[in-house]
Amino acid sequence: MRIVCVGGGPAGLYFAILAKLRDPRHEVAVMERNPAGATHGWGVVFWDALLDDLYRNDRVSADEMRKASVLYEGQEVRLRDAPTAYLGGYGFSVSRRSMLEVLTARAQDLGVDVQFEREVTDLSELGDVDLLVASDGVNSPIRERYADDFGTDVAVGRNKYIWLGTTKVFDAFTFAFEETSAGWIWFHAYPSASGNSTCIVECTPQTWSALGLDTLGGVEGVARLEQIFARHLDGHALLNRAHGMGEAHWLSFREIINRTWYRGNIVLMGDAAHTTHFTIGSGTKLAMRDAIALGDLLPADAADLPPRLRYFDESGRATLRATQDAAHKSMTWFENLDGKIDDDPVQFAYALWKRRGNYPRWRYQLHLATQIGTLRRVRREVSSARRSLRARKRGELGRVPAGWARR
Ligand SMILES: Cc1cc2nc3c(=O)[nH]c(=O)nc-3n(C[C@H](O)[C@H](O)[C@H](O)COP(=O)(O)OP(=O)(O)OC[C@H]3O[C@@H](n4cnc5c(N)ncnc54)[C@H](O)[C@@H]3O)c2cc1C
Repeated sequence: MRIVCVGGGPAGLYFAILAKLRDPRHEVAVMERNPAGATHGWGVVFWDALLDDLYRNDRVSADEMRKASVLYEGQEVRLRDAPTAYLGGYGFSVSRRSMLEVLTARAQDLGVDVQFEREVTDLSELGDVDLLVASDGVNSPIRERYADDFGTDVAVGRNKYIWLGTTKVFDAFTFAFEETSAGWIWFHAYPSASGNSTCIVECTPQTWSALGLDTLGGVEGVARLEQIFARHLDGHALLNRAHGMGEAHWLSFREIINRTWYRGNIVLMGDAAHTTHFTIGSGTKLAMRDAIALGDLLPADAADLPPRLRYFDESGRATLRATQDAAHKSMTWFENLDGKIDDDPVQFAYALWKRRGNYPRWRYQLHLATQIGTLRRVRREVSSARRSLRARKRGELGRVPAGWARR
C-alpha cells in the first residue's frame, strides 16, 4: 500500500514506523512542514503505561525514547511563600525535539520517506494514496477541510496558557501558584533531559489582561512572568523560543471532538482527531496509542481497509471517552480556581490531586503522611521498587540487541 502521513508529530511518525514493521513492502511517507529538529513546545510527560506500549511495539525506538527521557519523582505544590506541600507518584519527561529525533531516525532506518519542510496544502499534490493519515495536529487543515464530514466540534477553553521553558531545573513535577493584584497565576513545571525544564504558565483571561500580558511583547511579557514567579525560579530565566521556532504565544486550549475519525481513505490521528487538556499530560500517549491501534489493524491490501478504519474509529472513540471526561474535569477545575484556593497548602494540594474525581479515604491519610520527610522517603523507595519491577517486566533493563525489530 502507499501510505502518506501528513504531519510528523508523534502520531504520524510512530504510525509510519509501525506500518513499516508490519509490512516492509508498504510505501510510507511522512510530510512535515517544519524543518528537521524544529518543533513547538518543550517537554511532555508520560508514565509507565506508555513505555509498556512502546516496548511491546518497537523495542528499538522505545529504548531510545527511554534514554532521551528523564525520571521525576514526586510532585510539589507551592502556594505563594507557604511551606511546600508534597504529592506522590513519578513520571518521565522527554523534550519534543528529542522524541521527534528518535522517531524520525527509526522511521528513516526502516525505509520511511520523511520529508521535512513539506507543507501539504492541496491533497491532490500527493498523487494516488491508499491511506492518508491526517496527523497534522490540533489545527489540522485536513480535518478543517472536511469538518462537516468528520462532524468536528471545537470548544475553546477559558484560561490562557503559554508553553515556555526555563533554565531552572525542577527535580519534581512542580505547581507554583502566585497571587497578584489581578488574581491568581500559576505554572506547571517539570524537568527535561536536556538540562532545562518545561514551564507552562496559566491564568484566567481576566488576570491575563489585568496584568497586561495581552499587550506586552514577547520579551517584556516573559520578564513580567519572571518577576511574578521570582521566588520559584531562583533567578533563572524563562525561555520563550522552542527549538528552531519563533516566540511562543499565549493560547486558549482547543478541545477537539469528532463524530467520526475517518472519511473514505483519510483517517484522523492524534490531536487532529481528539485533544485532551494538557493538565492531564496525555495527548502524546493518546497520539501514539492511535498509531498502535491502527498499526495493528493495517491490512496487506488496500481493499481490506474500509472495515478496519470503521473499527479503528468506533473502538478508538469509545476507549477515549473516559480520558476526555477526566481531561475536561481537570481543565474546568483550573478554570474555576480563583476564590477556591485554600490557604492551607496541604489541603489545596489534595484538592489539586483529586480534581478528576474522588478517591478512597486512605488516599487522604497517605497524602497527610507524605508531608512528613521520612515517610515521603519511604513512599519514594516503595514506588522506586515498583518502578524497577515494571521496567524489568517490559524488558527495559535488559540489553537491546542492535537491529532488533518487532516482527
Ligand atoms: C502546553 C501543552 C503541554 C502538553 N504536555 C503534554 C504532556 O506533558 N504529555 C503529553 O502526553 N501530551 C502533552 N501535550 C499534548 C501533546 O503535545 C499533543 O497531544 C501531541 O503532540 C499530539 O501529537 P500529534 O502527532 O497528533 O500532533 P503534533 O505533535 O501537533 O504534530 C502535528 C504535526 O503536523 C505538522 N503539520 C500541520 N499541518 C501540516 C501540513 N499542512 N503539512 C505538513 N505538516 C503539517 C505540524 O508542524 C506538526 O509537526 C501538551 C500539549 C500542550 C499544548
